[in-house]
Amino acid sequence: MNKDEVKMSLELGLIVMAGDSMLAAFLLAPSKVVVRECNIPRPSRGEVLVRVRACGVCPTDLRYIQGLRLYLPMGEESRGLTGHEWAGDVVEVGEGVEGVSVGDRVVADHILSCGRCIFCKQGRSNLCINKRYYLRGYAQYAVAHASTALKIPPHVSFEEACLTEPLSTCLNTLEKLEMGPGSRIAIIGDGVIGLLHLQLARLVGAEAMVIGHHPDRLRVAERLGAVLAINSKDVDAVDVVRRETGGLGADKIVVATGGKSAIGDALRMVAPGGRIGIFAGTYPPTSIDLDPNMIHYGEVCVIGIMEHTPHHFERALNLISRGFIDVKQLITHRFPLEKINEAFEVVKSRRGLKVIVSP
Ligand SMILES: [Zn+2]
Ligand SMILES: [Zn+2]
Repeated sequence: MNKDEVKMSLELGLIVMAGDSMLAAFLLAPSKVVVRECNIPRPSRGEVLVRVRACGVCPTDLRYIQGLRLYLPMGEESRGLTGHEWAGDVVEVGEGVEGVSVGDRVVADHILSCGRCIFCKQGRSNLCINKRYYLRGYAQYAVAHASTALKIPPHVSFEEACLTEPLSTCLNTLEKLEMGPGSRIAIIGDGVIGLLHLQLARLVGAEAMVIGHHPDRLRVAERLGAVLAINSKDVDAVDVVRRETGGLGADKIVVATGGKSAIGDALRMVAPGGRIGIFAGTYPPTSIDLDPNMIHYGEVCVIGIMEHTPHHFERALNLISRGFIDVKQLITHRFPLEKINEAFEVVKSRRGLKVIVSP
């Protein structure tokens, strides 16, 4: 590198010197997020240091910030928060790293499974009991495990790559619910997750109805090919789904919104032999009333969807990069790191869809 190149690389944050500092978000107390300077982390063996270019806000981040996930650190230990939908440029590689180099544009899976436990051996590494999480994406630099880092094709932007993680978990739903050509699917929830499921359903030749109560999001659902976008504020969604399916109910239900009532609705709109996938967490925890006879006589399967495997992650990036899933339409807001609190406010108020923070 000549002098000018070095200068430019330094300005772009592509060269990190020992002791350099960066900006990162910290959670000092519930609902108290601040952005301040701290040391740039160093990659250990097998890890890479990434100059984060974009980090998508996930509703689970909000629960953490509101103090609903108390097992996660607060205060000094909270650098970068739970940011996990992040992508950027590799600026340093740790010892023993192969296949990832400085200068690569990458998106890394935040989940590192052990590969040795019973679940990993069964190919269900999303249930790994020795999982490690690489979060901390609300910072200018973050560490990723090299084995999970995928190169982003040049035509895919960093912010589009941020949707790899949510999409990978939706791919898990696709398998668990056995969605296929001709399936009639009801998706409860008109947020990013609902709209990703909608696109996957279309991709496999299924018919999908989307249920929500945000007119702007329901319009996107229509644009993305929902056979019906149902506003549950105006009509009884269970009635509509039953009517549209000739009284039978939908074959597959994706519950892409938290809370008791969505699950109750799912149980009332599922067809005999149908499957209900509970994708969203419910906070605070609650319990549901459920008629066991419906499960017994109706052979209804209720199943949870939790995270994803490395294989889902790889396929998700591939679907985005090949244009099978339109993530551009789902990105509605962008904020610099300094305005992270505004970004969280937008997500909290359920305005728009995916919100991207650019550190
Ligand atoms: Zn997420
Ligand atoms: Zn494992």
